[in-house]
Amino acid sequence: MGKRVLSASIKHETNTFSKLLTGLDAYRARALFIGDEIAPVYRDTNTEMAAHFDAADKYGWELVSPIAASATPSGKVTREAWEYLSGELLAALNGSFDGILLALHGAMVTEVDEDGEGALLEAIRKKAGPDVPICVSLDLHANVTEQMAQHANGLFSFRTYPHIDTRDTAARAAEALQAAMTGRTAPHCIVARRPQIDGANHGRSQDGPMIDLLRRCREHGKEAGIVDVSVNGGFPWADIEWAGPSVTVTYDSKKAGMAEQAHDIAEAMMDTVWDERANVTIKHLQVSDAMDRVKAAGSGDKPIVLADFSDNPGGGSYGDNPTLLAGMIEADLQDAVFGTISDPEAVIDCQRAGVRGTVKIPLGGKIDPDFVPPLMVNGEVVAISEGGFTYEGPMSTGMRNSMGPTAILRIGGIDVIITTARLQVLDLAIFRSQGIDPENKAIVAVKSAHHFRGAFGPIAREIMLVDALGLATPSLKSLNYVNVRRPVWPLDMD
Ligand SMILES: [Zn+2]
Repeated sequence: MGKRVLSASIKHETNTFSKLLTGLDAYRARALFIGDEIAPVYRDTNTEMAAHFDAADKYGWELVSPIAASATPSGKVTREAWEYLSGELLAALNGSFDGILLALHGAMVTEVDEDGEGALLEAIRKKAGPDVPICVSLDLHANVTEQMAQHANGLFSFRTYPHIDTRDTAARAAEALQAAMTGRTAPHCIVARRPQIDGANHGRSQDGPMIDLLRRCREHGKEAGIVDVSVNGGFPWADIEWAGPSVTVTYDSKKAGMAEQAHDIAEAMMDTVWDERANVTIKHLQVSDAMDRVKAAGSGDKPIVLADFSDNPGGGSYGDNPTLLAGMIEADLQDAVFGTISDPEAVIDCQRAGVRGTVKIPLGGKIDPDFVPPLMVNGEVVAISEGGFTYEGPMSTGMRNSMGPTAILRIGGIDVIITTARLQVLDLAIFRSQGIDPENKAIVAVKSAHHFRGAFGPIAREIMLVDALGLATPSLKSLNYVNVRRPVWPLDMD
C-alpha cells in the first residue's frame, strides 16, 4: 500500500545583523503557498518541492502538502510569521503519517528561537512521535545544530554552489525516507563542527577545498550502512551560538558499528574543513579599485560583470546599498546596467514622472540610513513594469518570481533597475524581462555573492567581486558578534 507522506517547505536564511524583520509580507513577496496551490507552482521546476512530487509518483505515496514558503534572506523571522508558518505545518500533522519529507534552509533564526529549524523539528517530532521517519533537505549554507540532527532521521545538503542540484538533493532525502518507511533502514544522523563560523571556502563547489570534501561525501555515501554524508559551508552572518561549517552523516542504525563509523567520517572531514579554513579562492575589490580595473580592461566582445558581494540580498543584506552604483556613476561608466536596487519610494517617484520623464531623487539607503544613506541621483525614466519574471536557470529554472513594481532609471550611461522587492540577481531573466539584454552590455553590475555565476559566468568576459561594505560583508571582524560561541575563527584567531 502507498505510504502517506507529509511534504512541506519553510525556508529562510536569516542575517541577524539586519534590522529588517521578516514578516509574512516578505514570504508573500516571494513564495507562500498553501495546500492545493503548491503542486502547480513547483511541479517540473528545479526545486526541492518538485522532487517531493517526483517521489510521490515514483513510490506511489499519498502526499499531503500543507505549506511551501520562502522569503528573501533578511532579519529575524517575526513571531507572527513563525507561528503562522509552523502552525500550518503542525496542524496538518493531526492525521497519521508514515513519513515526513521537508525542504528547509537550515539557517533560520526567529524572534522566538535562534535555531528555527531545530525548534521546528522538535515540535514535529513531539507531535509525530519517535517512530515516524523525518528526512530533510538543507541548503549548503545551513548552520546545522545538535537539535536538528537529534530530531531528524536524515539531513541532506545541496552539493553545488550555485545551488543547481536542489531537485536532486531532495530526491536523495526522498529515497532515504522510502527506505526508512519500508523498514529497510533505521536512519539516524549526527553533526560535527569545529570552532569556526566560516570555512569550506563558503561552500564554493567549483574550486578550493570543497572539491575534495564533496568527493568524499559521494564516496562515503556508497559505503554499506552510510545513507548520506553532507558538508555545509554554514552561514556566518548569523550571530547565533552554533553558526558555522559542519559535516552531517546519516547512517543506518540497524547495522552494527555504524554510529562509530559515522562519527569517524564526520570528524575526519571536519579536520579537513578546519585545516583548510583560510583557503579562500576569491578576492574582493574595494569599489575604487574595481573602477580602476574596469577602465583598464577597456572594451571587449562580452560584458564585465561586477558583483556586489556585500549587499547581496541572498545573504540577507538590504539590497538598497548605493555604494557601488555611486562609484560607477563617478567613474562615468558607459553602456552599463545595474541590477538591482530595492527602493519602493523611488519606483513611485519614477512612476509619477512617467516614461521619458526626469527625476532628481534620493536612491537606496532607506532601510537603514544610519548604515548607509541614500544617494542623490538625476536620471531619465526609460521603462516601468510590474516586475514579473520566470527564472531561466540554471538555478530555480521555471519558477515565477516578481520584483514588484519596477522602474528603469538611466543615470548617465547606466540603466539602473529599481525594484520594490528585495531579491538576489542570479538570473538573466531579471534583465531580459525589462527589455535589457545583459549579453550586449559593456558592464553588468549585480547584487549577488556567487549564485550569479551560474547564469552570468557564461556571458562574462571578466568577473570582479566588490566589497561595498553591505551587511553581508566578507569582513566578519567588522561585525558585532555577541551570541556566537567563543573563541571562534576568524573572530578570535588569525
Ligand atoms: Zn545557500
